[in-house]
Amino acid sequence: MIVRAYIGLGSNLADPLQQLATAVAALAALPRSRLLAQSPFYRSAPVGPQDQPDFINGAVELETRLPALALLDELQAIEHNHGRERTQHWGPRTLDLDLLLYGDEQMDLERLQVPHPELVNRDFALQPLLDLNPELALPDGRRLADLRRHCPDNRLRRLEPEPAPPNA
Ligand code: AMP
Repeated sequence: MIVRAYIGLGSNLADPLQQLATAVAALAALPRSRLLAQSPFYRSAPVGPQDQPDFINGAVELETRLPALALLDELQAIEHNHGRERTQHWGPRTLDLDLLLYGDEQMDLERLQVPHPELVNRDFALQPLLDLNPELALPDGRRLADLRRHCPDNRLRRLEPEPAPPNA
């Protein structure tokens, strides 16, 4: 079975833009998967403790044959390779990867809830998904565009793409 999956990326430590760039490269190299598209990146104010840097967020669209839990294992391995440490709930992190949507599946396991339960409350996850596909909806039919209009404001600012280096 081939599934369309959407992964949210976030970082606020150790050169976040670089963390996201290498994370996207790692996602593009996942087994039994193909990277279809990458969203623009955004700067957002932290949720929870405010004495930490702003986050950089984005999302990617994958086509994958990996079962959902195997995909979660891969995401956690990538987080681990980026030196992710879980010290403080909602605290700073080098890389956070969330499985936001996995096809039309709804799962409520201890290790994995899909759609991601916080998706509806996070403009920094909803907006990159809408950039990838403005028609996206949750399995229960709620449209992401409608959810985006009603979710809390995290002072999202879209980052311009890095200018191409001058020809040497
Ligand atoms: P976080 O601190 O937000 O990265 O949460 C990590 C924990 O959330 C891990 O123990 C995961 O097993 C669990 N988890 C549950 N659902 C998801 C999901 N959809 N995507 C990523 N992690 C999830």
